[in-house]
Amino acid sequence: MARVVQKFGGSSLRDLSYIRRAAQIVARRWHSGDDVLVVVSAMGDRTDLLSSLALTAYKHSDDENAESDVLLSIGEQESASLMALSLQSLGLSARSFMGWQIPIETIGVHGKARVKRIGTSMLVDTLDHRGIAVCAGFQGLMVRGDRISTLGRGGSDTSAVLLAASIDAQLCEIFTDVEGVYTSDPRLVASARKLSSINYEEMLEIASLGGRVLETRAAAAAMRYKIPLHIRSTFSSNEGTEVGEGIMEERAVTALTHSESDAKIAVLGLDNQPGIASKIFGQLASNGISVDMIVQGMTQDEGKAHIAFTVLKTDISRACAALESIRESTPYQELRCDDNVIKLSLIGAGMNSSAGVAARMFTTLAEKGINIQIIATSEIKISVLISADYLELALRSLHGVFDLSNAVEDLKQ
Ligand code: ASP
Ligand code: MG
Repeated sequence: MARVVQKFGGSSLRDLSYIRRAAQIVARRWHSGDDVLVVVSAMGDRTDLLSSLALTAYKHSDDENAESDVLLSIGEQESASLMALSLQSLGLSARSFMGWQIPIETIGVHGKARVKRIGTSMLVDTLDHRGIAVCAGFQGLMVRGDRISTLGRGGSDTSAVLLAASIDAQLCEIFTDVEGVYTSDPRLVASARKLSSINYEEMLEIASLGGRVLETRAAAAAMRYKIPLHIRSTFSSNEGTEVGEGIMEERAVTALTHSESDAKIAVLGLDNQPGIASKIFGQLASNGISVDMIVQGMTQDEGKAHIAFTVLKTDISRACAALESIRESTPYQELRCDDNVIKLSLIGAGMNSSAGVAARMFTTLAEKGINIQIIATSEIKISVLISADYLELALRSLHGVFDLSNAVEDLKQ
């Protein structure tokens, strides 16, 4: 008998019939003898709808308004209640818990609050009496001000993992509309395969570099608290992807992700003197714009410096305006902004111990005539920024060259 958290995403809870189907999955787990805590997202795209209502009412895109959080959190209240009612109609004892009731105490700003502490006594009491605790994901209680908060879009994954950590759950199952984590996006790469298991570091990189199955913060929380995850489909009983510690470390390349959320800015013809980078990035930082990949170079003849980097597409106009405004104090010849770019990343926990992955990646792209604009690496990933026009060609070539579909088979033996 174990304590298990089961989280259902919005696409698994589209309407009441979907919720009933999810409730059957919960009931099956409970009947097997486990204690179950359920975490729900809002039904379908309810949160999008609420968010645009808030925007219409207030006319500013002020995500940090406490009143918006009151509205946004409604979606999970609705689905938690319907889930509890559906479980009750199956003869089980179930009750819903809102973030403020648990409480899930948060700090930081509204719209992207961070969890500070979770009260567990009511949850544990419910589970110990074989009741099912149905928790509204995505929401909490701002400690200062005593108001409802939300954790940021996609935040119910984080709710699930942190709730699992707080009640010492042995497993957190993430139910979604795909069968697990794939070697690449199956919609673009026909030979993409489901990975049966990956480790926390890989999951974190995959989540932050464009994999859409799990929120990045949830992956980080699972790694930190060592919560085993099982990412699987609500609509089939197939095994999904297990995420855990130190699984299959020797695999050099596990997955190939792409992210379309970046844009490139190049600042050309800067005076090449100490402090230039600090002025550029200091200006962006003071405007709350985060920068990801960076490359700096020099022209040979004039000794001018060039700096290119990526920011989120959603930040690009603010970033350009911020740089225009320092042109007098930090002169440059040209500012170029390009949002027709994508970031491709090869990820693998064994990458740091296997030579030649980068070389093979670059050669493969070169052979296809694809220009690499910026490169970034860490111990277990290599990312390149390329023109978005080559997305599918690059994905398919790299997936083939690194034989990702077969790598999955090998590990099953
Ligand atoms: N319902 C929220 C959203 O759509 C939270 C979540 O689904 O994880 O962002
Ligand atoms: Mg989600």
